[in-house]
Amino acid sequence: MVRIEGLRKSFGDNVVLRDIDFEVMAGQVVTIIGASGSGKSTLLRCINLLETPDAGHVWFHGSDLAAERVDVNRLREKIGMVFQGFNLFNNMNVLDNCTLAPVTLKKAGKAEAERVALGHLETVGLADFARADVNTLSGGQKQRVAIARALCMNPDLMLFDEPTSALDPEIVGEVLEVMRDLAARGMTMVVVTHEMAFAKEVSDQVVFMDQGVIAEQGTPAKLFSAPEQPRTREFLSRYL
Ligand code: ADP
Ligand code: MG
Repeated sequence: MVRIEGLRKSFGDNVVLRDIDFEVMAGQVVTIIGASGSGKSTLLRCINLLETPDAGHVWFHGSDLAAERVDVNRLREKIGMVFQGFNLFNNMNVLDNCTLAPVTLKKAGKAEAERVALGHLETVGLADFARADVNTLSGGQKQRVAIARALCMNPDLMLFDEPTSALDPEIVGEVLEVMRDLAARGMTMVVVTHEMAFAKEVSDQVVFMDQGVIAEQGTPAKLFSAPEQPRTREFLSRYL
């Protein structure tokens, strides 16, 4: 579904990503781990063109996103993204957050968009909160709304950038549970996370980034139990 080859990205003189080769097969969960500043978010953001690569290729469903003819808005309809800080519209209720993009971008009818949204809110356990003001929700509830909102666009791929990093420890689990369900239902997902137990359990592939390169990647069994690189071992030792 996603294939990245020779990706390079700089901000000014700061080379943030180099020689990135990366692949996500349909139905797979790929987690990206690594220290702060290693380029995880930038890599994720290159997949939906929130950042423009300097060099290399990013293919999504076989089309090269670096090509000028790519319709960025059409692309983003197929790629859902969930951020650390939720990025909800705080002046709208839960249901309106979920129906805004389908109604304005996909020209869905309001009633149909609401029916679909209620289904996704049910999935994330928040059907009873459809009319609630976003400001009244807990962080875990907000993040579950953000996931439901992304699902309302019927994406082929979901990107998660540290979805639980802003949450209190006792509510991290409810968001991971929703993500686990989504993975079990076959959603293709790329997840940047520091939740190693989750990565171990849910991932098909784990990618370890260090200073702008993919230092090591493999199955969770391999990467967590028998990492080859000293820097992978050093990074993982901080989570023991
Ligand atoms: P991570 O998500 O692994 O913490 P990032 O991809 O956010 O890493 O950042 C990698 C590097 O790129 C950091 O040095 C960061 O300061 C820099 N960076 C990220 N975004 C920008 C930006 N918009 N402008 C300038 N520098 C950036
Ligand atoms: Mg980041």
